[in-house]
Amino acid sequence: MTNLYFACTDCKVYVDAGYRWASWWLEETGIVKRGRPVSVELVLGAREYWTPIETDSADWLYSEVLPSVRRFLEEHRCHCLVFGNTSEFLASDADFLDWMQVGFLPLLLPRYFVERLGFKTWDQVASFIARQDSKPWWWMLDWDDLHLKARHKFQELIDSGNAAKKSGCNSNPRFRLSRS
Ligand SMILES: [Zn+2]
Repeated sequence: MTNLYFACTDCKVYVDAGYRWASWWLEETGIVKRGRPVSVELVLGAREYWTPIETDSADWLYSEVLPSVRRFLEEHRCHCLVFGNTSEFLASDADFLDWMQVGFLPLLLPRYFVERLGFKTWDQVASFIARQDSKPWWWMLDWDDLHLKARHKFQELIDSGNAAKKSGCNSNPRFRLSRS
């Protein structure tokens, strides 16, 4: 069993769909298929998926996963959405630095630092990561210069002014005007 996500291939943003919970109530019921376009209406109508029995073990679904999935589906509903594990929406392994994970326990990636946390310098990133219980897997990796590539990607985003970029169909138009 691997993690399962909803991914927007237009915005290159993905969100945790809830692991086995998503597999049971979305995949096995035929509401979504791996690597296939997602019908937002069908997913939003999947009653069992949205209403786990309220126990302590469903806490992570109620407090984290389901609200973030709903927000994601609403924000990207007119975009191209795919369901599956990362191999189903990343064009290649090297591709992941172009993406941003949001929602439940997101993998910390350059776009997240810039677009969500508003960081401006790599020092901010480093001190933020030093405070995390678990570091993103690429942080300590010298293999394939991943750490350096992430740092370059971060700088590229800062230099291109991507910090203020809005994704989603409901971006504030006033915001867009003020940018042009
Ligand atoms: Zn999108």
